Amino acid sequence: SKGQWEVDPADLTLGEEVGSGQFGLVLQGRWRERRVAVKMVREGAMSEEDFKEEARVMTMLSHCKLVQLYGVCTQHSPMCLVFELMEQGCLSDYLRARRGRMSQDTLLGMCLDVSEGMAYLESNNFIHRDLAARNCLVSCNNVVKVSDFGMTRFVLDDQYTSSQGSKFPIKWSSPEVIKYCKFSSKSDIWSFGVCMWEVYTEGRLPYENRSNGEVVEALNAGLRLLKPRQAPEAVHLLMEWCWKEKPEDRPSFALLLHELASLSDL
Ligand code: ADP
Repeated sequence: SKGQWEVDPADLTLGEEVGSGQFGLVLQGRWRERRVAVKMVREGAMSEEDFKEEARVMTMLSHCKLVQLYGVCTQHSPMCLVFELMEQGCLSDYLRARRGRMSQDTLLGMCLDVSEGMAYLESNNFIHRDLAARNCLVSCNNVVKVSDFGMTRFVLDDQYTSSQGSKFPIKWSSPEVIKYCKFSSKSDIWSFGVCMWEVYTEGRLPYENRSNGEVVEALNAGLRLLKPRQAPEAVHLLMEWCWKEKPEDRPSFALLLHELASLSDL
């Protein structure tokens, strides 16, 4: 069945490569007068039938702080996914490239952007499952948007999807995700705390010198990431709130967005 989310290949022009990820190459392109990023799904990388079902829901999620999925081109095999183009690439690289040159307002503004996109997902009962600075992208106007929401459900690589796997994002995962794979908006909140930490360290890797096993042990012992030097005390308190052991003790994105906004005098 052909939905509104089906992209006609005749409307799509492909250009240069802008990156590559778990699903394969990402090219820039043009679709109906719009600049787009096209994910060319590698053979065997994605459970395509499951994704097609979900694509309808995902194209309907629309917010200025989310990277828009415009549609899917299923006539090609393997299929390709058509997204809003984010000219300045992923947030982690963007932060590292601008080290020492970003103001407090800029850093807080990035956290606000991400929390707005996440509050929208939360209000739609949509769980991201892999929030991290590498999965946020930056537009030509320096707006940060949340990308790749829900996509790990369609990855066909055990190393990535099993919490025992070598590619599983343990360092962004809450204790209940590590132990029982129990994903929720509250586990997204934990990841958001780590993402704020990435922003305020200007793109450092969390728990840089620890293995995944050591991180799990440290978390169990109640240890947490330390306050980044650039983070104001009030921002660090919000991070620690995100890292409460019990999911119900963590804030919602709606509340966190409100708290971050009250720290900003933009
Ligand atoms: P995957 O979901 O396959 O793992 P990613 O989303 O990590 O792929 O994308 C890989 C890289 O491609 C990103 O790091 C980024 O540089 C680039 N990229 C992905 N999506 C976009 C986009 N919408 N606009 C611009 N560049 C993008």
